[in-house]
Amino acid sequence: MMQEGRPVPVLFKEKKDCCACCACMNACPKDAIKMQEDECGFLYPVIDPQQCIRCGKCQKACAYQNIKETNTPFQTWVAVSKEETIVMNAASGGVFSALATGYFKEGGFVSGAVFDKDFTLYHIITEQSKFLSKLRGSKYTQSSIGYVLREIKKKLLENKQVLFCGTPCQVAGLKSYLGKEYANLLTIDLICHGVPSNRSFKDYIHHFEKKNNIQVKSFTFRDKQVGWGKNGSIITQSGKRYKLFETAQSYFYYFAYSIIMRENCYTCKYACSHRPGDLTIGDYWGIQKEHPELLNKQNLDESKGVSVIIVNTQKGVSALQKYGCELRLYESSFEKAARGNAQLNKPTAHQPKREDVLSLYAKAGWEAVDDKFQNEIGIKKYSGFVKSLIPRDLKRVLKRFIKN
Ligand SMILES: Cc1cc2nc3c(=O)[nH]c(=O)nc-3n(C[C@H](O)[C@H](O)[C@H](O)COP(=O)(O)OP(=O)(O)OC[C@H]3O[C@@H](n4cnc5c(N)ncnc54)[C@H](O)[C@@H]3O)c2cc1C
Repeated sequence: MMQEGRPVPVLFKEKKDCCACCACMNACPKDAIKMQEDECGFLYPVIDPQQCIRCGKCQKACAYQNIKETNTPFQTWVAVSKEETIVMNAASGGVFSALATGYFKEGGFVSGAVFDKDFTLYHIITEQSKFLSKLRGSKYTQSSIGYVLREIKKKLLENKQVLFCGTPCQVAGLKSYLGKEYANLLTIDLICHGVPSNRSFKDYIHHFEKKNNIQVKSFTFRDKQVGWGKNGSIITQSGKRYKLFETAQSYFYYFAYSIIMRENCYTCKYACSHRPGDLTIGDYWGIQKEHPELLNKQNLDESKGVSVIIVNTQKGVSALQKYGCELRLYESSFEKAARGNAQLNKPTAHQPKREDVLSLYAKAGWEAVDDKFQNEIGIKKYSGFVKSLIPRDLKRVLKRFIKN
């Protein structure tokens, strides 16, 4: 019922106060909130004043502004899937796939991010294991949550087991929308250094197609055949493969150097040890330094990807005990993992170039951004390709030599 005399709620005052977790939109009993793109394609909630009944449920559901995370890590693991094909197709060590496989086997539901044919990224919830290959792998652009939070709640109320994986702000949004603990929900948050808008990624792909006169069939942000890092690849409709080196691709470069992230990512409150998920997963950067014994004695191959798992709750402990059998697990510590992983300590730094690049994008599109990038990068663009030619052992020796 309309709460007479009350103003339409203000969902956020500044862009840095909204992460697009969609908790407000899902909480609205009148569907009066829609997500709208700004000039760079970042999504923000907008309330239709005609439909809004001023109940304030949207404001209450906002975890980003209301809730302070208090979890602290009590276990940290080095982890790699026992199945090599999973590791090769996952962004890190394939932890997500191991847990999701366990859920699918038991008739549970899994929620994560998938691309459609036009590279729109959005969250789904499914009990069908055939979607695992689409769910697997990091997509370095913002996933649209849509109304998936309502679907998750429905499954939870039907007593189904649900596994949710997303960025920490998405996990916090889900929990805040639900408003209470559900024993049948397990949440995994990703260590995250920020998200560019999905529109900018799609515009990059379309520009790549135009420039090379091809049609992209599939895209991977991390192609392990090139090693574990920020290099990806494209397969075209005609079967041709393009390797994408971070130093030569505008979108990769601007993502890796945090130049085109969403405004709130630069003040992200989850980039620390207080994480919203039952489990936190990410790359175990610095594994060579922190656990050389695993590379030498346990034969872990860091060129294929190694994960870190941080256990934040008792539920996380139980889940790892139950589903961890698909993983090779070695004990580590939060301090060790955080030494090589900046986003376990603080948010990514705001880059002075951000406004230049994004205002150019808003005015003239990705083509102009790409032209600017290609002009500025010069011959440095070949460095990724050259690095990929150096054998792994030689790389280790060179790194040690440079440090000394
Ligand atoms: C935008 C982004 C930035 C990241 N930044 C870092 C970082 O700075 N440091 C670090 O250590 N790790 C980072 N990661 C996490 C890392 O890339 C891996 O996703 C993570 O280690 C899990 O790897 P995996 O092999 O276990 O699973 P994978 O098989 O790679 O599965 C990843 C899971 O994440 C979900 N997912 C993929 N893309 C998105 C997305 N855009 N939004 C929400 N959910 C998504 C998938 O649905 C799947 O459930 C980032 C991930 C993303 C999506």
